[in-house]
Amino acid sequence: MHHLLTLDGLPRATVVGLLDRAQHFADTPGDFDALRGAAVCTLFFEPSTRTRMSFQLASQRLGAHVLNFDVSTSSARKGETALDTMRNLEAMGVRGFIVRHHDDGAVARLADAARPETALLNAGDGRSNHPTQGLLDMLTLRQAKGDDFSRMRIAIVGDVKHSRVARSDLHALRALGTGDIRVCGPASLLPDDGTLADCNVTHDVDEALDGVDAVMTLRLQRERMEDGLVDSLEDYHRHYGITAERLRRAAPDAVVMHPGPINRGVEITDEVADGPRSLILRQVANGVAVRMAVLERLLGR
Ligand code: ASP
Repeated sequence: MHHLLTLDGLPRATVVGLLDRAQHFADTPGDFDALRGAAVCTLFFEPSTRTRMSFQLASQRLGAHVLNFDVSTSSARKGETALDTMRNLEAMGVRGFIVRHHDDGAVARLADAARPETALLNAGDGRSNHPTQGLLDMLTLRQAKGDDFSRMRIAIVGDVKHSRVARSDLHALRALGTGDIRVCGPASLLPDDGTLADCNVTHDVDEALDGVDAVMTLRLQRERMEDGLVDSLEDYHRHYGITAERLRRAAPDAVVMHPGPINRGVEITDEVADGPRSLILRQVANGVAVRMAVLERLLGR
């Protein structure tokens, strides 16, 4: 593995190997020196809190020098392209680029143009891929439900159409052989491009939640949406919001996940987001460990 651009098509053994290594980092506090002396850069052309901060922390825990490219104060404001930016940073000796971009495929295009010794890590491109989110979600599920994904019933609920998280979760769930993947949302927010071909698709959230082991809820991606895809936030919440009452349909020990940032009271109520079934902050904690595993794999000595 030279870059991490997508989880699509990754062999099960590769995914499991990364999860095992991430679990080791999660269980082992303190610092490591796999990236000692290497320079990495977070190159984010879209906002981020969790992904960027956890990549920074993960790089630091591995001993790397971490540069943070801030689009608002950089020469990108003068029109410098992402490619020229990367080439200039490569010239300074940066070996790893953690890139978030609003365009689908933008990170893969940078990878094609990079020097042979450079590694690209996709931190989210458009609606296409967010591979480290997919991995941290699998680590969180595995900790809560064990490693036999074939027995798991998982519901992904919400704005799947605009969600790179949903796509990467689907790639990872498939790689791990998940038994029952249900996808639920209004027709206007579900992709019709074949992405969901092997999933049980429904527009009825009560049906989707029936007996599931985990509910993965998604943010409404209003920044990627044309107007009119949802009638109103209230209406969306009424039909698709995850409430404590709805959750009673799931298995008694079902867990709830959300990649953040949460629109509280829209996708999920405060009661569920902050309640005993919520793994939302566990996902965030696992983000650091997973990103350490990926950085070590791509850039470690
Ligand atoms: N933080 C995730 C992402 O960047 C999820 C979201 O924004 O809804 O895709």
